[in-house]
Amino acid sequence: MDLRIAPEDLELRDRARSFTEQVLSPLELECEEHDGLGAESAANAKRAVLHADFNAINHAKEDGGQGLDLFQQILIEEQWGTATGGLWDIPWRPSIPLANATPDQRVRYLLPACRGERRDAYAITEEQAGSDPSMVRTSARRDGDAWVIDGTKWHVTSGDVADFFLVHAHVDGDPAKATVFLVDKDLPGVRLVRTPKYTHRFVFEHPIFAFEGVRVGLDAVLGDVGAGYELTKDWFVEERIMIGARTMGAATRALDLSLAFAKERVQFGESLVAFQAVEFMLADMAAQIMAARSMLYRVGWQAARGGTDRKELHALASAVKLVCSETAGRVADAAVQIYGGRGYMREQPVERLWRELRVDRIWEGTSEIQRMVIGNELRKRGHEAYTGWPL
Ligand SMILES: Cc1cc2nc3c(=O)[nH]c(=O)nc-3n(C[C@H](O)[C@H](O)[C@H](O)COP(=O)(O)OP(=O)(O)OC[C@H]3O[C@@H](n4cnc5c(N)ncnc54)[C@H](O)[C@@H]3O)c2cc1C
Repeated sequence: MDLRIAPEDLELRDRARSFTEQVLSPLELECEEHDGLGAESAANAKRAVLHADFNAINHAKEDGGQGLDLFQQILIEEQWGTATGGLWDIPWRPSIPLANATPDQRVRYLLPACRGERRDAYAITEEQAGSDPSMVRTSARRDGDAWVIDGTKWHVTSGDVADFFLVHAHVDGDPAKATVFLVDKDLPGVRLVRTPKYTHRFVFEHPIFAFEGVRVGLDAVLGDVGAGYELTKDWFVEERIMIGARTMGAATRALDLSLAFAKERVQFGESLVAFQAVEFMLADMAAQIMAARSMLYRVGWQAARGGTDRKELHALASAVKLVCSETAGRVADAAVQIYGGRGYMREQPVERLWRELRVDRIWEGTSEIQRMVIGNELRKRGHEAYTGWPL
């Protein structure tokens, strides 16, 4: 068994690490103190993304993306995940269902999104529809040569900087006809309802948007009428794996900082690391990261180069998200403990990591929903996907 990472993949990881150190991490305190970035910092960061060829790492080269496979994306996102403030979202990755665009949609949405000229946001969740998207009330009805969309979407990440939305709606209110519509933000009837504040500081906002009698052309359907759930599922799968990657980056940084702090901080005449209670916390952090990252790399490698099929990847992505996000949460909690009172100060990265990692157990499907997906796989096909070694 050869577990070595190929030199070109390592080179990519090192480039992502330098990019994080030089472009993202220096913006952390500005983002924390000002609850986002000023226009100049945001513009500089965007230029840096293009300069470093880190735009649209998840899309094909012919569409203006970087043509990287899932494993390579994991190596990159892991580095970006070390930065706080949700700064990982600066290097835009247009939602993967856009790869299903028609030639015309490709020109209007996908290509400019990959180039960074337009930005998308994915709008599924509603007041009454969270873990269960079949309860979505946003509807689309045909009216002559248009679709008319009505509904309200919550928590629309990066909706403040988006130019268009992927809106998950039910045609004629029928959940069997779940469909994704491409909706320009400047269309009449698209209204910002409010921009709530969240626990974390995030470089962008998660506003609530209303769609009130919004008329879009018949060509606004992404994929087919009724294919919405499958498209949204593709988005979930990719994002769940990327959450796995980013949380591993964040957890590793938390360990790194904790270890350095525990070596340097002296109490009772000894470095903290000399106390076994602290040493054991560090040991658990390291061992748990090792387990979760091994799983992440295996699933990512298998999906990119080992021929995992779509169904199996859906099942595996849930396990990755569950284990990596829960592990990172525990690691960050221990890091705060090791830092003592300093660990509770917002100016300390461990505090921000701890606060920000909380949402990774909630968005893109809560931990309970990931367990439901895993349970479903166990019932239908047994445990082989998790316990076997298909490589
Ligand atoms: C910061 C942030 C950004 C987000 N960004 C986006 C975005 O860009 N686009 C988007 O569409 N959505 C987004 N979301 C929404 C997110 O995906 C949902 O919040 C999440 O899926 C949970 O839905 P809910 O909040 O309605 O909770 P609910 O579904 O109401 O769940 C509440 C609790 O009940 C549990 N629960 C529900 N059903 C079951 C069950 N069957 N068995 C066991 N437990 C269950 C859940 O696990 C949870 O603990 C975002 C959320 C946040 C907080």
